[in-house]
Amino acid sequence: MTTYDPNNIFAKIIRGEMPCTKVHEDDVAFAFMDIMPRADGHVLVIPKAAARNILDIAPADLAALMPSVQKVAKAVKAGMKADGITLQQFSEPAGGQVVFHIHFHVLPRWDGIALRPHTGAMEKPEILEAHAAKIRAALADVR
Ligand code: 5GP
Repeated sequence: MTTYDPNNIFAKIIRGEMPCTKVHEDDVAFAFMDIMPRADGHVLVIPKAAARNILDIAPADLAALMPSVQKVAKAVKAGMKADGITLQQFSEPAGGQVVFHIHFHVLPRWDGIALRPHTGAMEKPEILEAHAAKIRAALADVR
């Protein structure tokens, strides 16, 4: 299936039907902690608009989302005291996509420290919340 499924897990998170550790929400964007972070402070930024991935999102919806991706990237770098940011977006299973609501991974990076491998292990909610609190605080200062 390559159509959008409105019951995917991220659509449920936007609708409040599934929990998440939220860091940002506005009219077009929603950002929350990745439950299996590949780095401390790993955030996912998604549009509220329905789209499966980079291949089907309406250009206007993508354009409306990107300022939030940039804003969250700045806040993740500042809040997590990182040296840099890795931005990732996977499309379709062959591209590494697992959840089929378009999302951008915002990964804080520190000099000389590799990303953790995907282990399938979920982070403790209190750890996710501690990282989210730092990122939310930094968001307040992002211009
Ligand atoms: P992708 O589709 O780009 O490969 O990655 C999906 C990402 O979503 C993974 O990094 C995974 O850890 C994360 N993820 C999957 N299910 C959930 C969930 O229910 N809640 C949250 N917060 N993250 C999830």
